[in-house]
Amino acid sequence: MPKTSKYIFITGGVLSSLGKGIASSSIGLLLRQRGFTVTIQKLDPYINVDPGTMNPYQHGEVFVTDDGAETDLDLGHYERFLDVSMSRENTATAGQVYFDVITRERQGAYLGKTVQVVPHITDEIKKRMRAFDGKYDIIIIEIGGTVGDIESLPFLEACRQLRHEVGRHNALDIHLTYVPYIKSAGELKTKPTQHSVKTLMEFGITPDLLLCRAEVPLDRDIRAKIALFCNVEERSVIEALDADTIYEVPMLFARHELDNIVCEKLALRKSKRNLDTWSRFVHRIKAPRHKVRIGLVGKYIKYPDSYKSILEAFIHAGAINNAKVELTWIDSEDITRENAAAHLSNLDGILVAPGFGSRGIEGKIHAIEYVRSHGIPFFGICLGMQCAVIEFARNVAGLPLANSSEFKKNKFSVIDLLPEQRSVTDKGGTMRLGAYPCRLEKRTKALAAYKSEHISERHRHRYEFNNDFREQLVGAGLKISGTSPDGRLVEVVELPNHPWFVGVQFHPELKSRAVTGHPLFVAFIKAAVAKATEDL
Ligand code: GLN
Repeated sequence: MPKTSKYIFITGGVLSSLGKGIASSSIGLLLRQRGFTVTIQKLDPYINVDPGTMNPYQHGEVFVTDDGAETDLDLGHYERFLDVSMSRENTATAGQVYFDVITRERQGAYLGKTVQVVPHITDEIKKRMRAFDGKYDIIIIEIGGTVGDIESLPFLEACRQLRHEVGRHNALDIHLTYVPYIKSAGELKTKPTQHSVKTLMEFGITPDLLLCRAEVPLDRDIRAKIALFCNVEERSVIEALDADTIYEVPMLFARHELDNIVCEKLALRKSKRNLDTWSRFVHRIKAPRHKVRIGLVGKYIKYPDSYKSILEAFIHAGAINNAKVELTWIDSEDITRENAAAHLSNLDGILVAPGFGSRGIEGKIHAIEYVRSHGIPFFGICLGMQCAVIEFARNVAGLPLANSSEFKKNKFSVIDLLPEQRSVTDKGGTMRLGAYPCRLEKRTKALAAYKSEHISERHRHRYEFNNDFREQLVGAGLKISGTSPDGRLVEVVELPNHPWFVGVQFHPELKSRAVTGHPLFVAFIKAAVAKATEDL
């Protein structure tokens, strides 16, 4: 018999950026620690159909799942906290929902009926919400945006209806809100929360639990006041204070028995909570022994969210190596061959970031030349790996005009489209997206890191290592340490005579999970620790 899944709806109020993704992930982790199977779905009320084409400046990194969906970066948090892989079905935007309904309408599926937000759009939302029905004990559904936004209305209506359908005790509404501290009055103010809950109630949703973001602790009186005006139990008004690290949030929630309350309200058997491993991990983040200075060379450096998964992967790898990873953001456009030393000589390692377009490419290549010739650990991801190949071709293999055909078309495209891709002009859908298998060579740094010959990693790129130059580059000393199982696609390159110089065509950062980290990030930070001189 399929199991009955329990649903937890998470909405946000008052203002955006309160950390709904982290709150959802933390609740998910707490329930997973108790032995339940959990997944999280993110429903975004915006109209974009394809989040992959959204601007990283506005929306942060595009997170890619194994099955090749380009999604919101919150899915990255879900995977990192839950250690569960997400898929295409873990996310939907209003645009996708409308697109499907309108496409069906064009095909005549509605037989000329009037197609409306209720029931057609809301039914389509509910269908997606039920994608995991019976497959997990608990399905957390995070609704993007803020309650009261025009766009979120059909989503809230779908939450209301779904709870009605599955039965009140099989679902729970959690509302994340903000309780500002007004310095001049020396007081926490509950009014915005009251208003937000009132708005939610207008849509037929009464929250069971309030998570209150606040800068100072909520005392008993404040909680009692919120409880009274918002119609929730006092113990279910839970403060969500700013934490030193996002990974501490589950522990703060646990301290207020959030998981116990959730289990009770959903009538879930209460197995014991075990956060030992997680707390050790948090402790290592907060009190590391070593310090390493890593340069992150990229072009979106003013928008740290564009590199979200890389930043998190550093935190995981730092914790495992007992090291604080201090990042220096380096705009690749600022680097020239002449000033490379000034920017890079005091670093213990550099990571050259993924990216698209020609801006900043030459700076990346100069940076790589410097660290290659000065024995500074180097980690190149996707575009970073492609730049490493170009640099090697130009400065070691005697191909001074080497380039990628993404930036310059000439006879020396060491990075190029695959022959079968060259005729495709449409940008959407031409990328290699999602998980691909890779085979690692013996006696390589890559194999030493992964400790497994067969790996699978996620991709998001158009260009590839050009095999026409393989012999020449290998002859000059470039080691191809990982390829597709048929040997045709080059996935990992490295330099044998260097402390740690590894470039990967895929995105390892997308698979770095809290506690366990990612083998390549762990190995890179280990190499940086070996070079670093400073201890804490
Ligand atoms: N622009 C490069 C390509 O499309 C690299 C992409 C990336 O770094 N994700 O191949």
